[in-house]
Amino acid sequence: MKAALVGADGTLLHEARRATGRERGPDAVVETILAFAAELHAYGVEHFGTGAVAAGVAVPGIVDATNGIAIYAANLGWRDVPMRALLAERLGGLPVALGHDVRTGGLAEGRIGAGRGADRFLFVPLGTGIAGAIGIAGTIEAGAHGYAGEIGHIVVRPDGPDCGCGQRGCLETLASASAVTRAWAAASGDPDADAADCAKAVESGDPAAVRVWRNAVDALAAGLVTALTLLDPRTLIIGGGLAEAGETLFTPLRAAVEERVTFQKLPHIVPAALGDTAGCLGAGLLAWDLLSTEVSA
Ligand SMILES: [Zn+2]
Repeated sequence: MKAALVGADGTLLHEARRATGRERGPDAVVETILAFAAELHAYGVEHFGTGAVAAGVAVPGIVDATNGIAIYAANLGWRDVPMRALLAERLGGLPVALGHDVRTGGLAEGRIGAGRGADRFLFVPLGTGIAGAIGIAGTIEAGAHGYAGEIGHIVVRPDGPDCGCGQRGCLETLASASAVTRAWAAASGDPDADAADCAKAVESGDPAAVRVWRNAVDALAAGLVTALTLLDPRTLIIGGGLAEAGETLFTPLRAAVEERVTFQKLPHIVPAALGDTAGCLGAGLLAWDLLSTEVSA
C-alpha cells in the first residue's frame, strides 16, 4: 500500500510504501493501514512542524463512502470495516474521508493529472482487472450503490471467457493486463511471458503478438464505445499496466474507437499522468475536500 502527505494544492510532500500484510488476514491489513497513517501523521509533525489536518484513505472493492465503511474486498478478505471511524480514532479525532481506489485515482487524474480542466472524463485503468471512474464537474460519480463505472464488466463478447463476476465475455476477461498476459503466454508458449513482453513483440512485428494485441484492442474499443455512447466524456484517460505500452496501445486504440463511432463525438484519448500514485494523491484531495466542505458548511 502507498501513503503520502499531500499539500493543499495537491503537491506530494512525502511518500511511503509498505506491504499490506494480507497473508495475516483482514484484521492485520486494517491494523497496517491505521498504524501507517499514524506514522505519517507523526512524520508530518517531525518534518513539517505540523501533522496532517485531515486524512483520506482509498480502498479496493465495494465502498460506502457516505458512511465511511469498507464493505467488501475480495483480495483483502474484509467485510464491513468501519474504516473512517477507526482511522479518526487512531488519528486523535482528525476528519477522515474514505474512498474507492479507482474512483479516488480518477479524482486525482481529473483534477491534477491527465484530465486537468476536463469537465467530464472517464478514467479507465487496465491492470489485473478493469475498472472505471466517471468524472463530472470535479467529482466522481459513485452510483446509488457504489458500483458506478464498472466498465470491466460490460459484456463485449457474449460467448467469451467466463468472468469472476458470473457473466461471460466481460471486457476485463479480454483486455486487462492480466488477460493479455494470459493470451500471450499461451500464444508464445512461454508461461512467464506477460503483457509488456507482448507489447515488445508487437513492436518488433511478431504476427502472433499482433493478433493477441489486436484482439485486446478490439475488445477494449468495443467496451469504450459503449461507455462513451452512454456518458459522452470530453476526455478518456487510460491508465494501468497496459497503458505503459504507450503508442503501441494508443495509436491502434484511437483508430479502433474512431472506426466504431457513428454519431458519437470522439473524446480525447490520453494516457494517465499520475501512474500508481493517483490513488494516493486522490485520497489527499478527498481529505482536503473534507476541510473545504466543513468550512463552507
Ligand atoms: Zn465480469
